Amino acid sequence: MSAALAILDEAEARLAPLSVATNLAWWDSQVAATEENAERRTQAELAWSGALADRELFARVLAARSGAEGEAGRQLDLLHDLMLTHQLPDELRARIVELESSVDLRFSRHRGLVGGVEIGDTEIKRILRQSDDPAERREAWEASKTVGAEVADDVRALARLRNEAARALGHRDWFALSLSTDELDEQKLIDTLGEADRVTAAPFARWKSALDESLSVRFGCAVSELCPWHYADPFFQEPPPDGAVDLDPLFDGQDVVALSHRTFAGMGFEVDAILARSDLYPRDGKNQHAFCIDIDRRGDVRILGNTVSTHDAAETMLHELGHGVYDVGFRDGLPWLLRSTHLVATEASALLHGALSWRGEWLERVLGLSPSEVAELESRLEGARAAALLVFTRWVLVMNAFERALYADPESDLDTLWRELVSRYQGVEPPAGRRAPDWAAKIHIAAAPVYYHTYLYGAIVGLQLTAALENAVGGIVDRPEAGAVLREKLFAPGQSIRWDRLVEQASGSPLSVAALERAVAKA
Ligand SMILES: [Zn+2]
Repeated sequence: MSAALAILDEAEARLAPLSVATNLAWWDSQVAATEENAERRTQAELAWSGALADRELFARVLAARSGAEGEAGRQLDLLHDLMLTHQLPDELRARIVELESSVDLRFSRHRGLVGGVEIGDTEIKRILRQSDDPAERREAWEASKTVGAEVADDVRALARLRNEAARALGHRDWFALSLSTDELDEQKLIDTLGEADRVTAAPFARWKSALDESLSVRFGCAVSELCPWHYADPFFQEPPPDGAVDLDPLFDGQDVVALSHRTFAGMGFEVDAILARSDLYPRDGKNQHAFCIDIDRRGDVRILGNTVSTHDAAETMLHELGHGVYDVGFRDGLPWLLRSTHLVATEASALLHGALSWRGEWLERVLGLSPSEVAELESRLEGARAAALLVFTRWVLVMNAFERALYADPESDLDTLWRELVSRYQGVEPPAGRRAPDWAAKIHIAAAPVYYHTYLYGAIVGLQLTAALENAVGGIVDRPEAGAVLREKLFAPGQSIRWDRLVEQASGSPLSVAALERAVAKA
């Protein structure tokens, strides 16, 4: 047996059981948030991270990697990227982990004050979506930002520590290191986001000026007097609900899990085993969001959901099952390290399936609307989808430019930079005289650094795959041929093919913003 294969066998033997233990402990801590489960999760994660920090194994991976080719070379690359960020002096690694969890804790404990009363994020969002009182809106928006002032110094300190770690590992800064371990080319990312800026600038400006007109009427002020709190969420990440299409009445009394099962069955996917292991309905003491987790890379795939009878819940269930069918779709015999997904590819599958709930063919065939009802809804739905893509793209541009600058120089004037980026990309002007670290109120900057662009890449690839399936087999809903194409070209290879080549193979073209340009033209 070659040295490379011996290392890979040893790595799997050591890492696979720890990975299963970590995933199970995470799952348990999410379905039942007890102190015991939290403690077991911490212990499992420490054991996992300890194994990845093994210097002796990492040195052998480095040595075997040069000259290794084919499937073994690919596995060594992935193992290298998995272990690299753990190859740090213990003291530095500990300081980063401690500071991250301290910031995280302050985010979960912090509550903003509105009218002298402490309120949570959900209530702040409700006010920004519904309230007609500008003073109350302003108070809610400002309350959403107070956590920023509380954590800003530590988020800046985290950026310094992360940069120190990145430099110790031979990279320019944390931004460059993160892209490298995610197999993302920095110049390609800059070019792609530049293109995304170019193709969305004009349609966004058009759409937003119509929005601003209607907001100025609603709030009885001039367009030039509109402030950040006149939009419908703290960061203007989503289009406001005004004039949007409300599909919820169509889902009254519907069994969303059954609709999802029906959707995947129509594409030739078997999801009973996933659903049987899942935890799908709201309950006290469990995570309030949704996710899909591959426990063992051998078919134990589970979804945590909080399913109710709404359109949003249907989109979420389809989204999570879009991750799930990917995880159970790896070809037989694929080695453990390759039985995994790249974030962009799995998010593309999830977004593609979630978006079915917005499509006429789904509303007609799965939900049972009549062709005339669908015709009435369809163009409005396309407009709403396009607006959501526009708003989201502009927001990703802010996040990416900000994080690039943050890691390039953590000491720079970040408050001013944030205001300039929000103005340039989102067309939202800061209130006169405001000086505050509003950037630090976005939890991802502290907790999920250098990650936001993968959402945009995933959305673009989802659009490319949808277009490719329409061309190849005429659509997606009730077309087992569409499921077969996804299974064969996207899911089966796992990570045996680098994500960018996988995208090209599955959608027929490399990642490009052309699909985004077509989609946002419908806004
Ligand atoms: Zn997802």
